[in-house]
Amino acid sequence: MAKRIVHAVLVVMSCAFVVSCSANKTRFFPSSQSGEAAHLVGPAAWHAGNERSCLASGRVRETPYIFSRASIGRPTGCGAERPFVVKAALGGHVGMRPAATLRCNMIGPIDRWLRDVVQPAAQRRFGQNVVELKVIASYACRSRNSRRGAKLSEHGRANAIDISAFVLSDGSRVTVKQGWSWNNRGARFLHTVHRGACRHFTTVLGPNADKFHHDHFHFDLARHGRAGTYRVCR
Ligand SMILES: [Zn+2]
Repeated sequence: MAKRIVHAVLVVMSCAFVVSCSANKTRFFPSSQSGEAAHLVGPAAWHAGNERSCLASGRVRETPYIFSRASIGRPTGCGAERPFVVKAALGGHVGMRPAATLRCNMIGPIDRWLRDVVQPAAQRRFGQNVVELKVIASYACRSRNSRRGAKLSEHGRANAIDISAFVLSDGSRVTVKQGWSWNNRGARFLHTVHRGACRHFTTVLGPNADKFHHDHFHFDLARHGRAGTYRVCR
């Protein structure tokens, strides 16, 4: 019973926070307090624990194109303890325009998706590499799909990225909005990289998911289901 009451209180608190988030999407909060993080429970604790183990692993290091920034948000709501600004992925070979603000955990999967899925598909379809991703959202303190009353988006935890287009080495562009529905190599490339993303992220949404994703792919590392093993791939 006590557990249920604690859960109910947390739900009310998180909903109140989400409403304030959606009312002001670009609001930045003071640095997080480590004492506060120590008392986290539920999803906030899960996210904080994941971020800390990623940071402690040393898998993500600062480079000329990846640098850490001060904490954003608060451990109980939007934000990340030590987010990174990523100007390029895959060893600097794939630019991210504009630069994405992401938590540590997102950086490895983006690199692996580019290496194992995107570049092989680009070589197969176009005979060249992708050199840039057009990023239309990364960190943003808001509710899902910016709808009032909805749950906190993974964007609010810097745990998500929205990609609208791929730029090839010859400068040509493959956009999700214009390319997805055709029956050509651009469309086949987009479907391949969308499907392949499902091996690297726990949530993958594209134009087939809903009207909110008609022009971009959304990838995140949300925890789905009690065991955290469920995947959303639409
Ligand atoms: Zn998104």
